[in-house]
Amino acid sequence: MSETTATLFIDGQWVASSDGGTRTVTCPADGSTVGVVSEATAADTEKAIAAARRAFDEGSWSATPAARRGDLLLKVADALVERKDEFARAEALDTGKRLVEAEGDMDDIANCFRHFGKIADQHPGRIVDAGDPTVISQVVYEPVGVCGMITPWNFPLLQASWKIAPALAAGDTFVLKPAELTPHTAILIMDVLDKLGLPAGVGNLVLGAGAEAGAPLSSHPDVDLVSFTGGLVTGRTIAAAAAPTVKKVALELGGKNPNVVFADADFDAAVDNALNAGFLDSGLVCSAGTRLIIQDSIKEKFVDELVRRAEGIVLGGPFDENAESGPLISEAHRAKVTDYVRRGVEAGATLRCGGNWGGEELAAGCFYRPTVLDNCTIDNPAVVEEGFGPVITVETFSTEAEAVAIANHTEYGLAGAVWTTDRGTAHRVSRALRHGTIWINDYHPYVPQAEWGGFKASGNGRELGITGLEEYREAKHIYENTEPAETGWFPKK
Ligand code: NAD
Repeated sequence: MSETTATLFIDGQWVASSDGGTRTVTCPADGSTVGVVSEATAADTEKAIAAARRAFDEGSWSATPAARRGDLLLKVADALVERKDEFARAEALDTGKRLVEAEGDMDDIANCFRHFGKIADQHPGRIVDAGDPTVISQVVYEPVGVCGMITPWNFPLLQASWKIAPALAAGDTFVLKPAELTPHTAILIMDVLDKLGLPAGVGNLVLGAGAEAGAPLSSHPDVDLVSFTGGLVTGRTIAAAAAPTVKKVALELGGKNPNVVFADADFDAAVDNALNAGFLDSGLVCSAGTRLIIQDSIKEKFVDELVRRAEGIVLGGPFDENAESGPLISEAHRAKVTDYVRRGVEAGATLRCGGNWGGEELAAGCFYRPTVLDNCTIDNPAVVEEGFGPVITVETFSTEAEAVAIANHTEYGLAGAVWTTDRGTAHRVSRALRHGTIWINDYHPYVPQAEWGGFKASGNGRELGITGLEEYREAKHIYENTEPAETGWFPKK
C-alpha cells in the first residue's frame, strides 16, 4: 500500500484522485487527524468500473475454480487474524469506537471470509426433474458480473466484507466505495487482496463522497449489480438511479427494531440486554433495539433500573480503558440525534436520562449520553424514525396481541427480540414479527452462516448465509435433450 495519498486502488494500481483532491479523516472521539486520503471524482469511479468490466469479461477470475477462489478467502481470513491489531486500530480511529469493539468486528470479518471461503464451491447448481428421462435439466449458478458496493460508516469493514467475500466467492469483480468518513480499513483490505495475488481489476477501491464517487456505481450500465448498505433515503436514491439500467439492486437499510419484554422474562437479563440492545456501539447499529416495548405490569420497575444503569455508562475514546461506550461519528450526526430527541420530547416523551453531550472532559469529541425517552406514544417521531444514536424509547402493552401489533407498527423490518420464559409465547411472537432477524431471550448475536436482511423498508435481498452468495450469482437453466427428434408440431408440407 502506498504511504502517499495514492489511496484509490484501480486496476491493480494505487493511484491518487485524477484531480488531486484529498480528504482529511478525523477521529470523532477527539477531532485528531487520522490520515489524508484521495477523494475520487466520478471519472475515477468510471475508470474503476472499466477495470472491473475488463477483468470480468476476460474471465480469468470467474474461470478460476471455485475451490481456489474459496482458498483465497480463507487466506484473507488468516491475514485478518495476523494483522488484527493494525486493522482494529484503524477502524477504532476512523469511527471512534472502542478498540475492544473494533477487535470484535475484526473477528467477525475473519469469520465472514471463512464462511464464504468454505461454501465457495459447495452450491454449484442442481439437476431438476424435467419429467423425461431423456432430458438433462440443470440449473447452474454463474457470477453476476461487475458489482458496485456502497457501504456505511458504522461497521465500515464488516459491511464491506459481507459484500466482498461473497462476490469473490461467486467469481465477480467489484468496485467498493466505503463511507467517506471511514476509509482506512477498506484501504487495508485491498492491500491484503493485492498481496494475496488477486488479479488486476478484480477488486477496485474508490474513496469519496456518495453523490460524486458513489453515484456511478448505481447508474453505470457496465455495473451489473449494486449492493448498498446505508440509510433509507440514500437507498431510494440508489434504487431510482439503478432503474434505467435494470441492474440487480440489493439494499440493506435502516431499522426501528422492537425489543419486546414480557412480565415473566428474567428481569436482570432482560434489563442488561435492553441496555446492550440500545447502547452497544453508541446505538450506531442498524439492528439496535432502540424501541423497548414492555408489559405494563413491570414497566415502572424495569425502566427505573434501565435508567439507573444507563446513567452509569462511562463514555470515552477508543483507547480509554475505562470507557464503556464511544462517540457518534461526526458533529453533523450529533446535531441530528440532538434534534431527534428534542422532537421526541416535544411530542410528549419524558426524558428520563441523557439528552446531552456529556461532561467537559468529552468536549473535543462527538459524544452523546445514553438517553431513555419514557411514556412514548406509537406516533411519537422518536418511535417512528430511526434516530441512529444511543436513544431508547419506551412503549407499553398489556396483551400479546397488542405487543405484536405495536412491534410491527413501523415501516422498517430489520430485527427485533422477544423476552419471556414461556417458549410458546416466544415462538408465536417470533413468527408474528415482520422483521428479518428475531432474537429470543438475547440481543445482537448473529452468525455468518445465517441470512441477514430486512423486511419492508429495511431493504431487499439478504446478506450472509447461502442466500448471501446467491445474491452475487445468476441462475441459468440448461436444458439438454439427449435424444433429439422432430417435434411434429408443424406438419411437414
Ligand atoms: P448513508 O446512506 O448516508 O451513506 C451510506 C453510503 O452511501 C456512504 O458510503 C455514502 O457515501 C453513500 N452515498 C450517499 N449518497 C449516495 C449517492 N447518491 N449515490 C451513491 N452513494 C451514496 O448511511 P450512513 O449514514 O453512512 O449509515 C447509516 C445508515 O446505514 C443507517 O440508516 C443504518 O441503519 C444503515 N445500516 C444498515 C445496515 C443493515 O445491515 N441493514 C448495516 C449498517 C448500517
